[in-house]
Amino acid sequence: MKITPCLLDISNNTRAGDGRLSEHIRGQNKEHLWDDRPPCAVDTIVIHSISAGNVEPRRPFSRTLILGIFCTYGVSSHYLVERTGHVLQLVPEDKKAWHAGGSIMPPPDKRTMANAFSIGIELVATPQSGFTEEQYSACARLCRDIERRHGRVFNYVGHEDIAGETAVRLGLRKDVKVDPGPLFDWNLFRTLVHKPAA
Ligand SMILES: [Zn+2]
Repeated sequence: MKITPCLLDISNNTRAGDGRLSEHIRGQNKEHLWDDRPPCAVDTIVIHSISAGNVEPRRPFSRTLILGIFCTYGVSSHYLVERTGHVLQLVPEDKKAWHAGGSIMPPPDKRTMANAFSIGIELVATPQSGFTEEQYSACARLCRDIERRHGRVFNYVGHEDIAGETAVRLGLRKDVKVDPGPLFDWNLFRTLVHKPAA
């Protein structure tokens, strides 16, 4: 499948917020917005939603503004799926992206700090917009591709499922995450991921 590389590192001059990715990342005295990940079995995909609605309400789906948000908050994700179904790779899969924060897997798993063993996928959406057909289909195709390349079936969780009240109660984080939220159709998504190849 077509995936456009747009790595969050200092060699990337793509526009982000009011500048360039390279400038923002250099300004934080970093070379990239990820950590090394010790060789480990990556077995979980975390679904998120992100928009620039709080930055510029008239341009909530702006790629430039969303890339700026990653830089401003020093966070990252492996993939960004735009409204058109266009997929950008922001972090290499063998690196640890900063997408889940303090987190705990639902029981019976209960592993904490999911960044270590997961791949993060951000879908561009506001809490009200819902998700486009193109996003469901591109995200499912991406997940099938990941499963094929890693040779295993993955766990699928929403950010809200691992960074909600349980994570706060355990002192893993201060705020509750609510993405991708109730408008994300998990049944549709799971059906698309595991449907037999056409
Ligand atoms: Zn999230």
